[in-house]
Amino acid sequence: MKQSTKIIKEVDNLGRFQIPNTLRKTMGFKAFEILVEGDDIILRKQDVEYCIFCEDKKELVKYEGRYVCRKCIEKLNQK
Ligand SMILES: [Zn+2]
Repeated sequence: MKQSTKIIKEVDNLGRFQIPNTLRKTMGFKAFEILVEGDDIILRKQDVEYCIFCEDKKELVKYEGRYVCRKCIEKLNQK
């Protein structure tokens, strides 16, 4: 069974709301699509490929569903 999290956010006068930073980081996403299904609005994470450490978009390696760039892999190997 999928784990679900309920977060209530108010929309400001310009139609904006904030996605909590912890949620963005733990889910590792920077883009999403908006789906409308009846009365439900669903935000679905989009796979924009970037390094989870430095946000670089070059020379990425996918590991456990996340991306890490070669430079950060080298830094990790030096520790
Ligand atoms: Zn990196």
